[in-house]
Amino acid sequence: MRFGIRSLYIRTRLALWFTMIMAAVLATLTVAVYELTRDSLLKEVQQDVRQRAALIAAAAPTPPQASGTDVFSAPDVFVQILDPSGHVLGSSSNLGGRNLPFLRSAIRADQVSDVRLGGRPLFLYGRPVMSGGRLQGYVLVARSPVTIYQALGRLRSFLYPGAALALVLAGFFSWFLVRHAIRPLEQVATSAAQIAATQDHTRRLGYRGPADEIAQVAATIDGMLASLERAHHELEGAYSAQRLFLADISHELRTPLTIMLSTLDLLARPGASDPEFQTKALADLRVEARRMARMVTQLLIMARSDAEAAVAHRPVLVVDTVTDACRQLSPDSGGVTLRCHGLEALDDAVVQGDPDYLKQLFLILLDNAFKYTQPGGRADVSGTVGDGTVTIAVADTGVGIEPSDLPHIFDRFYRAGNVRFREGMGLGLAIARHIATQHGGAISVESEPGQGSRFTVTLPLAVAEPSDPRQSLS
Ligand code: ADP
Repeated sequence: MRFGIRSLYIRTRLALWFTMIMAAVLATLTVAVYELTRDSLLKEVQQDVRQRAALIAAAAPTPPQASGTDVFSAPDVFVQILDPSGHVLGSSSNLGGRNLPFLRSAIRADQVSDVRLGGRPLFLYGRPVMSGGRLQGYVLVARSPVTIYQALGRLRSFLYPGAALALVLAGFFSWFLVRHAIRPLEQVATSAAQIAATQDHTRRLGYRGPADEIAQVAATIDGMLASLERAHHELEGAYSAQRLFLADISHELRTPLTIMLSTLDLLARPGASDPEFQTKALADLRVEARRMARMVTQLLIMARSDAEAAVAHRPVLVVDTVTDACRQLSPDSGGVTLRCHGLEALDDAVVQGDPDYLKQLFLILLDNAFKYTQPGGRADVSGTVGDGTVTIAVADTGVGIEPSDLPHIFDRFYRAGNVRFREGMGLGLAIARHIATQHGGAISVESEPGQGSRFTVTLPLAVAEPSDPRQSLS
C-alpha cells in the first residue's frame, strides 16, 4: 500500500488541495499588492524630486545665488545649488552643513539616484541651470523615502499575517464544508455495507435528501439491489424447479421400472410357462420399456436444447415421421381409437431437419392425446400442405384444457388442473414447442374443456431439391 496524499480520506484530500490552491492565489496576490504599492509610492517620490528641481531651476536667478534654497525645502526635502564646476553655492539649512553627492553622469543621464547621506537613504536628482545657452550651475534636490518605507512596513505587517490567517480559515472551512457534503455519501456506504453483511436482498438504501449526485448514486445502487433480488429469486426458483424435477423424474422412471420388475418376477415364477401369459407379459414389458425410452429421449432433447446443441439438418419426409409415431404408439393407446387420415396429402411434403426430433414431437402429442382422453374416446391425426408450409393436427375427444391454463401449457414443468392422477412431468409440450421452433415452425392449441383438444404443428416446407428425398432418408 502506498502512502501519500492519495491514501488520505477524500475530505482531507479535497481540503488540502483547496488550501494549496488558496495559498498559491493568496501568495501571488499579497506579493503583487505589496510590490505595486511600493513601486507607485517610490515613483511618486522620484517624480517629486524631479518637479522640485525643475521649479527651482526655473526660479533661480542668473547666475544662481546661494540664498533662497530653504524656500523649496521641507523637513525631508534637501536642496543644494552648485556652480558650473560643482562647488556648493548654497544648501538648505536641514542639510546641517553636509553636502549632497554631485553625480555628473546621473545628471547627464537625467536619472534619479538612490544614495545615502549620513546613513540615511535619499532619492537624489540633479539638474543643470541654463541661461542664454550657457551652463550657469546645478540644482540638486534630495528627498528621504523613510516615511514611505515606514508605510510599506506597516502594510507588510498587516498583509502577510492577514494572508496567513485567511489561508488557515479557508483550509478549516473547506475541510468542514467538504465533510458536511460527504456525510450523506458515508451514510450510503454504511447502509450498503450493512446490506452486504446481512445479505438481506429485500433491503434498500432508501436515501432521503436533495436530488443531487449522491441521490443519483443511491438510486443506482438501489436499482442494482433490485436486480440482484430479482436474480436471486430467479435462481431460487430455478433451484427449486430443479429439485422438483429430480423428484418427478425419479418417480416417473421408477413406475415403469417397478412394473417391469414385477412382470419379470411373475415370469420367473414356477408355472409361468403358459404361452399366452408369456406373450402378454412380454408385450407389457415392451410397452413399459418403450415408455422409459421415450422419457429418456425427451430428457436428452431437453438437455441438448439447454446446451443449445445444433440439430441435424437434412430433408425429412413428414408423412414417414408421422406414420412412424402413430405406429409406435398405437399399442399404448389405452382404449383410445387412433385414426390417421388424410396423410396422403403429405406424400411429397419435405422439411429440413432432424427426423428423430420430429418423430419425438408427434410422439409427445399422441401420448398426451391418449393420456388425457378416456377409454372409448378418439384421437385423430390429419395433415395438409399449402402456402409453403405443412400442417399436422393431433385432435382428441379428451378432457380438454381450461382457457386459463392454455397460455401456460407450453411452459416447462407446467401441468394444468386436468391432470388428476395422470403421470407426467410437464415437460412434453415445452420440448414439442422447442422442436417446432428449432425447425422454423410453430405449435398452437385449441381446446374446450370436456370436449377435447387440437394441437396444430406448422413447419416450413424445404425448397425443392433435384434429388429424391426418399433416397437421402434411407
Ligand atoms: P405432462 O407430462 O403433464 O403431460 P406436457 O408438457 O405434455 O406435460 O403437458 C402439459 C399440460 O398440458 C399437461 O399437464 C396437461 O394438463 C395439458 N395437456 C397436454 N396435452 C393435453 C391434451 N391432449 N388434452 C388435455 N390436456 C392436455
